Amino acid sequence: MALDELGITIDRSELEALTALRRDLHAHPELGFEEVRTSDIVARQLEAEGITVHRGLGRTGVVGTLSVGTSGRAIALRADMDALAMPELSDRPYKSTVANAMHACGHDGHTTLLLGAARQLARTRSFDGTVHFIFQPAEEGRGGAKAMVDDGFFDLFKVDRVYGLHNMPGLAVHEMAVTAGPQLASSDSWEARFTGIGTHGAKPHLGRDAVTAAGHFLTALHTIVARVVDPLQSAVVSACAIEAGDFRALNVIPDTVRIGGTARAYSAEVRDVLEREIGQLAQGVAATFGIKAEYEFTRRIPPVVNDADATERAYRAACAVVGAQNVRTDFPPSTAGDDFAFFGAEVPGSYVWLGNGPAVDGALHHNSRYDFNDGAIPTGVAFWTRLVEQELAQA
Ligand SMILES: [Zn+2]
Ligand SMILES: [Zn+2]
Repeated sequence: MALDELGITIDRSELEALTALRRDLHAHPELGFEEVRTSDIVARQLEAEGITVHRGLGRTGVVGTLSVGTSGRAIALRADMDALAMPELSDRPYKSTVANAMHACGHDGHTTLLLGAARQLARTRSFDGTVHFIFQPAEEGRGGAKAMVDDGFFDLFKVDRVYGLHNMPGLAVHEMAVTAGPQLASSDSWEARFTGIGTHGAKPHLGRDAVTAAGHFLTALHTIVARVVDPLQSAVVSACAIEAGDFRALNVIPDTVRIGGTARAYSAEVRDVLEREIGQLAQGVAATFGIKAEYEFTRRIPPVVNDADATERAYRAACAVVGAQNVRTDFPPSTAGDDFAFFGAEVPGSYVWLGNGPAVDGALHHNSRYDFNDGAIPTGVAFWTRLVEQELAQA
């Protein structure tokens, strides 16, 4: 379906400019908290439209503030700017020029969409109230949203509601998914360290074997989701790293074994269960084998749970742009995380998905051949623009 059949129109020269910008950002990816060039481009383009710019919030974060009319209402829209530490393997004219850095999650697209909407709204001034355009650093696990909140985002800017958007391959560029409730899981890490008494591999009875204990811990680990968490709730516990001994010393039973991994949940309750149970299991197994266990659970990102009212508002904007038949309201949650949760924890929020077309060559998010689909630019810009016009409607 052609976008103009849906009434999504965008000025041709503006679309060319946004496409060129998106590809320029793709060619110059920057990792979390290193988005110096990207945030400078964002800030200068916002300033060129007369938008008030606040730089350096959360180190490389930028907030653009546009007020029109007299209404005291205010909303915030968030885009993330960072790339991933991985090589780009596809050959495209705008391939990454930075070794081992790549926009494999489409944040180059997110930055472009929000900038496009900011430019359009600064020109049309077709609303009454205040909109804050958040350009967040370091979404990919380095804590950019928390850094912005810790730097006083909500003290500096009064916000009634906050919205986030992520591209989603598999949905067409004229499709969106807007769903109330859990969207993304909490993303926490844990580590268990087993300490026994190292000994000669031929004389295990003279020590206390942490390696065997760790094996029991690993097998039992997956009973937490299967046997402890409510079957009607979802959770993931994965062991992702293990470290012990030395392959050059296969006659030595080591003193210690470290095991670490990730834990994911969609509610505060299940998150608490995972934290408690992984630790209890580590201690219990250690006691069984007469060794010691140390345990650490690091809370990184809370789950993203869409507020019902904010989601209804986002849904109406999406319907106005692509038509209700192209808005999915039953989209399944993802076990990935997004630190948009730190904004959504302070005020009602909603996080929506924008179609990014078919997965080209099977490349999905975080694949070394992934590329944001520029065909989604008109839809994304129109969604952000319409959301502001509806949320802050002129009397
Ligand atoms: Zn990502
Ligand atoms: Zn992402």
